[in-house]
Amino acid sequence: MANLRTPGPIPLDDEILESLGTQMINHRGPEYKDLLFKTTEGLKKVFATKNDVYIITGSGTAAMEAAVVNTLSPGDKAINATVGVFGNRFGVICERYGVNLTTLEFPFGTDIDIAKLRACIEENPDVKAVMITHNETSTGVTNNIRVAAEVIKGEYDKLVLVDGISSVCSIPIETDVWDLDVVATASQKGWMLPPGLAFISFSDRAWQAHAESTMPRFYLDMAEYKRYFEIGQPPFTPSISCMFALSTALDRIEQEGLGSLYERHATIGQFTRDSIRGLGLDIFPEREEIASNTCTAVSIPDGVDGGALVTKMRTEHNVILAGGQAGLSGKIFRIGHMGLTSHSDIQETVDALKVVLPQVGFTKYR
Ligand SMILES: *Cc1c(COP(=O)(O)O)cnc(C)c1O
Repeated sequence: MANLRTPGPIPLDDEILESLGTQMINHRGPEYKDLLFKTTEGLKKVFATKNDVYIITGSGTAAMEAAVVNTLSPGDKAINATVGVFGNRFGVICERYGVNLTTLEFPFGTDIDIAKLRACIEENPDVKAVMITHNETSTGVTNNIRVAAEVIKGEYDKLVLVDGISSVCSIPIETDVWDLDVVATASQKGWMLPPGLAFISFSDRAWQAHAESTMPRFYLDMAEYKRYFEIGQPPFTPSISCMFALSTALDRIEQEGLGSLYERHATIGQFTRDSIRGLGLDIFPEREEIASNTCTAVSIPDGVDGGALVTKMRTEHNVILAGGQAGLSGKIFRIGHMGLTSHSDIQETVDALKVVLPQVGFTKYR
């Protein structure tokens, strides 16, 4: 079996794979109602929220799009604070829908500079919302969104829309305590699940924005999700198989406890970074304390052929790494360690890197 180290999807274990094979049920019947209510309760615990949480059949980007189309109107002003490729995607979604966007861009490998964020809101006092990414998977950087939200919401009272796709269920997040209006995440990241489901939390404040929003929407209209949830149904045919697996995963998360789950991610993240440095490589994020505990981005040193490295890791060692996206292509590779990643998964990756690196031009072993 391949050692799939992409930052989503992640390998699934037998219990989850078995749940996926459960026979179909009527999604408008009583069994589904129980499944929907039970899983929604479980999701709320992970989001740490009393707000509404909805399950969308779709990938994480569907939830990002839902965040935008349910709270903003064409012509509304908003700020997109981006530190990478996924942050940029939030901006593209806004622009496609006619949002009047100010882009607050930070260099790849850095996090949101809070002083610059504050200054940007000062300069644009009439923005309605600010978009932020909790964990930027393309650069392996985690933003301190608690502090960002204190500024956006606490000081300026703007809507906070969060891409938590690769953080929720892996890196601590407190939706209510931090006053986050919309948080989006997806099943194939930290949830130990296959791709197919997106989860989104929606605050009272987000609902007020929804009431004023004139954005066109149909499949992603949260009002439909709310209306149907009241009768214990999804608005559209859900991925019933993924829902069974979600129920299993949530039971396990409850058993393990969020504290232990977060600690496990922190430990594996640290172990990955230490092992990478042990090889003589450097992590891409500019500071250790902003390095992600779900995905490690590693700088490809001068003289090393990054494409060949990723290919050799796959063809000769059965380890599937992710390359860099967009402008980071050839500059970094990434190791995913969310969900059920074990130390031996990482050790195997590091051992293979040790063999492959000198074959692709690396000379500087520590
Ligand atoms: C994976 C990811 C996305 C995209 O999610 P899809 O499920 O591929 O649509 C967006 N943002 C972040 C931070 C991600 O990690």
